[in-house]
Amino acid sequence: MKPAPFQYTAPETVEESLVLLHTFREEGKPLAGGQSLVPLLNMRLARPSVLIDLNRVRELSYIHDEDATVSIGAMTRQRAVELSSLVREKLPLLAEAVRYIGHPQIRNRGTVGGSLAHADPAAELPVVTLVLGAQLVVRGLEGTRVLRPEEFFVSFLQTALAPEELLVEVRFPVHRTYGTAFLEVARRHGDYALVGVAAMVQMDGERCTEARLGFTGVGPVPVRLPEAEEAATGRPLDDSTLGEIARIVAARLDPHSDIHASATYRKEVAGILAGRALRLAAERFKQREGA
Ligand SMILES: Cc1cc2nc3c(=O)[nH]c(=O)nc-3n(C[C@H](O)[C@H](O)[C@H](O)COP(=O)(O)OP(=O)(O)OC[C@H]3O[C@@H](n4cnc5c(N)ncnc54)[C@H](O)[C@@H]3O)c2cc1C
Repeated sequence: MKPAPFQYTAPETVEESLVLLHTFREEGKPLAGGQSLVPLLNMRLARPSVLIDLNRVRELSYIHDEDATVSIGAMTRQRAVELSSLVREKLPLLAEAVRYIGHPQIRNRGTVGGSLAHADPAAELPVVTLVLGAQLVVRGLEGTRVLRPEEFFVSFLQTALAPEELLVEVRFPVHRTYGTAFLEVARRHGDYALVGVAAMVQMDGERCTEARLGFTGVGPVPVRLPEAEEAATGRPLDDSTLGEIARIVAARLDPHSDIHASATYRKEVAGILAGRALRLAAERFKQREGA
């Protein structure tokens, strides 16, 4: 299929883009990597009157090291994140998760901001922002808002972005003292996750002293499960603890069934992946401590 007719604009600065967004409001739509928007246009599921192509807005493409924070511009390609030695060193959870997005060709074009603004419930990057406690920086002509992931992701493909706002940056705090792991199950390599899990832990010998667990693919927005995190805290990550965590995960998550997997399957996989991710994160913590 072909998209419905639209007017094309190609601003070169954030300011110009915001003026266009402000002028056209609901009729305008930013185009980033196009990996989600172009199929939606072709299927006529999206019918903006004006496309605001952000690909010439160079000031939105960067990875900045600010010591305790790594800031990534919205138009930074997913592949640039994957290949960044800074991201590998300071944000290993993000480096691991980004490799699960589609295929290299998709990551060459797809952007960090596009993935977050699109807010697919099975996407990898939203849950990483949640577990790492990132800040999402949103700009409009009236000013800048800094949102937590819990505020930004509203529902299935819905965010707190107003039509005249742009996501301009994501600020990731650097957690040097944690071990992290990202695991997912998909029908084929490169498909969206049926279930994905992001884990972060701190250990004292064999005892877990802090755990964070985030899930994707199991509801309209990424979720953390505080009850499962508490069940890991203060205990060794042995079979008994992980079995209890799997039971909590299956009881607390409320995933949907679709043609790819039933809700029951998703719950069970989420519980098992949570245990594996915690163990892997703990191993990496110990390696890091021993290094
Ligand atoms: C075959 C295939 C497999 C894929 N597999 C996965 C996968 O496994 N996991 C995954 O997460 N994704 C997957 N994707 C999607 C891919 O990650 C996209 O890159 C991503 O969803 C959208 O990023 P984009 O830069 O292409 O944005 P676009 O498609 O250009 O835009 C997506 C939406 O975000 C809006 N938008 C973009 N940038 C901004 C901004 N800065 N501010 C405000 N709004 C903005 C657009 O208006 C649009 O509504 C896949 C895509 C394909 C084609």
